[in-house]
Amino acid sequence: MSVLSAPYFRDEAAAFQQLEATLWPQGPVCPRCGGMDRITAVKGARMGLRRCGPCKRQFTVTVGTVFESSHVKLHMWLQAVYLMCSSKKGISSHQLMRVLEVQYKTAWFMTHRIREAMASGSGLPPMGGEGKVVEVDETSIGQKQDMPKRRGYAHKHAVLTLVERGGKSRSFHVDGTKASDLLPIIKANIDPKTHIMTDEAGQYASLKKHFAGHDFVQHGKGEYVRGKVHSNTVEGFYSVFKRGMKGIYQHCSEKHLHRYVAEFDFRYSNRVKLGVDDAQRTVAALRGIVGKRLTYKTPIRA
Ligand SMILES: [Zn+2]
Repeated sequence: MSVLSAPYFRDEAAAFQQLEATLWPQGPVCPRCGGMDRITAVKGARMGLRRCGPCKRQFTVTVGTVFESSHVKLHMWLQAVYLMCSSKKGISSHQLMRVLEVQYKTAWFMTHRIREAMASGSGLPPMGGEGKVVEVDETSIGQKQDMPKRRGYAHKHAVLTLVERGGKSRSFHVDGTKASDLLPIIKANIDPKTHIMTDEAGQYASLKKHFAGHDFVQHGKGEYVRGKVHSNTVEGFYSVFKRGMKGIYQHCSEKHLHRYVAEFDFRYSNRVKLGVDDAQRTVAALRGIVGKRLTYKTPIRA
């Protein structure tokens, strides 16, 4: 017996029941009129088919999700979502291809759709607030196309990450690491009442003006912790991110980097320390799939 022997990972009817319980906790909801009254199961029809009495629409729980138009069985999708949610450093499309015994193209498509579901999207409330600490740091990863390796970081992609201590992370693929690349994002995503922690990088020097407080450690002088002043939380995030990107997603292209970054944010923001286990993380990802109305026709945006 393993986690993957659960019925909804093996049996299509059980997978439908599982998705219905996840997306319709109060019972079936009609995708056309939003009603919940007089919805009946259509007997002898395809899996999970229901009919809305008031508006006559027939539907299943997969309407408006990537599962609706997929040739991959729902119980296989649930395995894929679970594997991506429970693997700390992610799972490659090649690995998923071998585990699910699907074509590489299918596995690639599935992982990218699931990543889209994990992305939190725009319009989020600001992080931090009074009495809260947000650590800010940037890192470089991979190699830009047509740029030879040389000293420094100019040939690498830059990622900015904000982590609230005891809370969630938010990362961005940025054009560069100049103040003009970073400050607008920092200001737009963090409550001004927050106390900010960074390293001594010059780009962060003006943060004091915009936030309740700003402290920094001087890595250049070998200083990493000074009481509550440190950026170890965001560095911990980067250590998982970098091991995953190097070990699992080494071929990630610039076009898709923001999506991989969202995947690591998702797992960090739904981590065990915040009381979220593998099963709950899977549920969160499934809800994300629906919130974004992903279909096969939705372009994977660059
Ligand atoms: Zn209806």
